[in-house]
Amino acid sequence: MKTIDTEEISVPDSIADLARAVLIHGPVSRGELAEQLGLSLPTLTRLSRALIDRGILYEVDDLSQNTTGRPTKPLDVRPEAGYYMGVKLTGDQAIGVLTDIKANELVRLEANFMDRRVSTVHRILVKLYQDLIEKAHYASEVKALGISIGGYVHQDGTIGYASFLGWENVDLAGPLSEELGIPVYIENDIVAVAGAEHWFGLGRGHTDFSVITVGAGLGYGLVRRDRVVNTQDARLGIGTHIILDADGPTCSEGYKGCATELLTTPALLEQATAHFGHTVSFDELVTLFKEGDTFARNIFFRAGRALGRLIALVSSLALVDTFVLAGEAIELFRSTEDVVWEEINRDRKVEFTPLTILVDEGNFVAWARGAAAVAIQSSFDRLLVA
Ligand SMILES: [Zn+2]
Repeated sequence: MKTIDTEEISVPDSIADLARAVLIHGPVSRGELAEQLGLSLPTLTRLSRALIDRGILYEVDDLSQNTTGRPTKPLDVRPEAGYYMGVKLTGDQAIGVLTDIKANELVRLEANFMDRRVSTVHRILVKLYQDLIEKAHYASEVKALGISIGGYVHQDGTIGYASFLGWENVDLAGPLSEELGIPVYIENDIVAVAGAEHWFGLGRGHTDFSVITVGAGLGYGLVRRDRVVNTQDARLGIGTHIILDADGPTCSEGYKGCATELLTTPALLEQATAHFGHTVSFDELVTLFKEGDTFARNIFFRAGRALGRLIALVSSLALVDTFVLAGEAIELFRSTEDVVWEEINRDRKVEFTPLTILVDEGNFVAWARGAAAVAIQSSFDRLLVA
């Protein structure tokens, strides 16, 4: 992630922690917050007063009463405390969303492009930014822009490589931030989705979980002790060639039965095309599966077993018991859920914690929301000093 503006931001930890806790868990009572943050109730009330005065928090009218008989007035973040933009950038498309501070999508626009030169994509992103603001006329002040890409992003926010764009060592955030006059943050897409699930999605309230995405690629993210694991390796897409089926087909890099070959749509469609003798889309493959086609059923159930093994493996090695599944090919899980669970439970002893699988129904557009979440998370502290 890249902060363009390098001025020192200093917000007392307790204020920042409180604002963050309310953003993630709100509406939430002062009592719960005090306990969660280890603060006394008077301290918490004093800190929240400061944030209410600055229009960041507000008291929700709650008709339920606490034990003293008074209304509890839980705290929440004012959705209009800030507006943010997120863009999911692929090899031929930029999907942009404008959200409120809780990453709720307000408007969405897409821009397609053929020319992948950095200067062209830069222009397209500036136009997308302007068009989104115009469409959301009531949200003219955008605090920050987040961009997620399926590629390797250095810690400083420069793009190491994004193969589908044909880019290597590109600084997109710097010039964009200069032109737009707001901070721009770039993040690897799976790290972005893990962060979005953690703060605003199915991972809310979970301190430890793994995110697995199935689609054009296979994504693996980890949240540990309430933080997204955001190391260099986490941004590299490791584990994509883990062997999950010793009898499976061989991938383009020579691994037999690897995760990529068994679980990603390009690999499955290539296998289907070779079998049927003509190109097949993923939706067509789903239809064939539902109609009982033997080949489609075989590759779906093989994918289900592979997914079950992958989840069991992650659970055993990373010691997490909660999973968020997402991605365009989530139908692979839905269609074969029994088989997935059969594989998960194969090696798990009865003493093991039962696993929880949460399925994010969001489609590809959810990735743009993930990018907006990056902008919110990266720039949230700036809002508190503004
Ligand atoms: Zn492979």
